[in-house]
Amino acid sequence: MNGCNPISITILGATGSIGLNTLDVIGRHPERFVVFALTAHQQIDRLAELCFRFQPMYAVVATAQQACVLQAQLQTAALKTEVLYGEQALCDVAQASETDAVMAAIVGAAGLKPTLAAAKAGKIIYLANKETLVVAGALFMQTVQQYGARLLPVDSEHNAIFQSLPADYQGNPQLAGVESLILTASGGPFLHTPLDEFATITPEAAINHPNWKMGRKISVDSASMMNKGLELIEARWLFNVTAKQLEVVIHPQSVIHSMVRYIDGSVLAQMGKPDMRIPIAHCLGLPDRIVSGVKQLDFTRLSGLNFFAPDFVRFPCLKLAYDVLNSSNDASSCVLNAANEIAVAAFLDEQIRFIELAQVVESCLQQFSGSTAASIEEFLFLDEQVRSAAKTWVAGRAAS
Ligand code: NAD
Ligand code: MG
Repeated sequence: MNGCNPISITILGATGSIGLNTLDVIGRHPERFVVFALTAHQQIDRLAELCFRFQPMYAVVATAQQACVLQAQLQTAALKTEVLYGEQALCDVAQASETDAVMAAIVGAAGLKPTLAAAKAGKIIYLANKETLVVAGALFMQTVQQYGARLLPVDSEHNAIFQSLPADYQGNPQLAGVESLILTASGGPFLHTPLDEFATITPEAAINHPNWKMGRKISVDSASMMNKGLELIEARWLFNVTAKQLEVVIHPQSVIHSMVRYIDGSVLAQMGKPDMRIPIAHCLGLPDRIVSGVKQLDFTRLSGLNFFAPDFVRFPCLKLAYDVLNSSNDASSCVLNAANEIAVAAFLDEQIRFIELAQVVESCLQQFSGSTAASIEEFLFLDEQVRSAAKTWVAGRAAS
């Protein structure tokens, strides 16, 4: 363990799937971690329970009204946690001098500003919020470097790659003898569903992932394989590789979480049960290995490991993400993300069909093909414009 001082952590998105898994790991190591701040957007009762258990200095919610409700609950229990609200408060707790590290586990582009604030304050960032890199990857990586922040990948594939790369990998695949990075994908719940049944896929079926328990948005992304598309873009920035150095292979058992192919023909893989507490514990424990609470893999009980190529007809969202990855325009991945967030929300709300997810994204990519953005303000402005266009697409669909 690094000295005797516990690590002080802020968890952005504490009530979500990654947030709760993080707190599960932290709860197993009270001598290693103290919780500085917890944030949530809705689920105030759940946040209150977490505050009772972990007694953070701050809790952050979305609105003044939520803050009043939570503060009253905490005061009744004589808890000293101070409740703040709003976007600036998220940034404040992410960059506070009292916090060493930030778990970035807000879902969607809403996570960008507070994660960027953590980077500007030179924090250790445990990055689950892949959308930060999809929306503004170049800008975010530049900020991490400029302010000496430390970025550790929580997403299981990227964590697997991180574990399979040399410890001193400096973002130079050639120097490390890396030929390519192989992202594995489960293929989601519709890997074998007949294509003529795709039109009637329900939100309930889409969020019912065969291997992983996750939040609703990422579950729909996994079903459409947009998640793998977002992860290709995430990998491009995290490991400084080109589109040609990125492979995707379907591996339905989710035992191998991703691999690194070296020029000598060696392939290194990271394996384990599909449980996010493994990559979370890996990041939290570095440079040590710590107990995650996940059972060990029993190789004698595995039915087999299968691999095959992804099908772009079945998963057009993956094809769109590849196109974006191959384009030289960084703004296009911001467009892809914003359109996808609106499309997923509309699908979950039963306003569009599953097969229309890709149509919303494709239409926005065409509409905003000439867009450019360089600063955070420009990315956020573009994000807003695309959301508005995607909502218009959805409204038009409802009217037809
Ligand atoms: P989730 O929906 O379960 O939780 C999201 C959290 O963010 C909640 O605490 C919610 O209150 C908060 N939140 C939502 N909207 C917000 C907003 N506008 N402002 C502030 N806070 C907001 O999501 P999740 O599955 O935990 O995923 C979180 C992130 O981690 C996503 O970017 C996802 O892609 C990534 N990720 C998740 C998993 C997983 O297994 N769940 C795996 C890899 C990566
Ligand atoms: Mg993943």
